[in-house]
Amino acid sequence: MSQQKMIQEKFSGKTSQSIPLISLNRVSKRYDTPSGSFIALREVCLEVRKGEFVAVVGKSGSGKSTLINLITGIDTPSSGEVHVASKAIHALNQEQLAIWRGINVGVIFQFFQLLPTLTVAENVMLPMDFCKTYPARERRARAISLLDKVGIIEQADKLPADLSGGQQQRAAIARALANDPPILVADEPTGNLDSQTSDDVMQLFANLAMEGKTVVMVTHERDLSRYFTRTIILADGAVVTETPAKTEVSIS
Ligand code: ADP
Ligand code: MG
Repeated sequence: MSQQKMIQEKFSGKTSQSIPLISLNRVSKRYDTPSGSFIALREVCLEVRKGEFVAVVGKSGSGKSTLINLITGIDTPSSGEVHVASKAIHALNQEQLAIWRGINVGVIFQFFQLLPTLTVAENVMLPMDFCKTYPARERRARAISLLDKVGIIEQADKLPADLSGGQQQRAAIARALANDPPILVADEPTGNLDSQTSDDVMQLFANLAMEGKTVVMVTHERDLSRYFTRTIILADGAVVTETPAKTEVSIS
């Protein structure tokens, strides 16, 4: 069965009843700068359900990163409510947010953000060390199995600088999976990769979504849209278009 078909079947009828895993209610974000204040997001309402693979697209400066940073709790809204994995994260303080994020959201960046002095396996162990989600003696074995899952087990004991860009992004994805979070959030994760490597990394995300992870990804590469179950278009800080979730295929 084609991947598209599998995704469509997965979404047919089932998701409409489930509770959203991510919910933004009239969320605005204002940046105050010496030259005045700037509204980066205005009254955004958004819901994402379990297992969706959602793309956020829009021109540079449209508010994509701001939106994503509100979902991960990296940034806080100026007004409105952000509920993620049953938690009102707009109400958490920085310390509570760091622990909450470590367990609930795997974050992936365009430039990988691996720590250069740690090996790849040690990078993947970091979130487990930080949140103490797995016993210390199990963490390396878990890191190795995640590196196997993303296809770079043989790179485990190298430093990030010894890996290609695609391999580094796979390592970052393994790190994002360290605590088995229900949600993965990625800000232009293929923006620094060539097109073949981009496709491989997108396939990896698609597989994770098929396994039940909820993935929200910022991208400006329109030709990747075949991977997503839904695309949200932002313009000037507002949601201008949402393609409907792919629920139209019925299984007979
Ligand atoms: P995108 O990711 O779509 O390119 P961003 O969310 O990064 O857009 O930015 C949206 C707008 O908010 C831009 O005009 C940007 O200049 C502004 N902005 C983002 N972060 C800050 C900040 N920390 N301080 C002031 N303005 C910001
Ligand atoms: Mg951005």
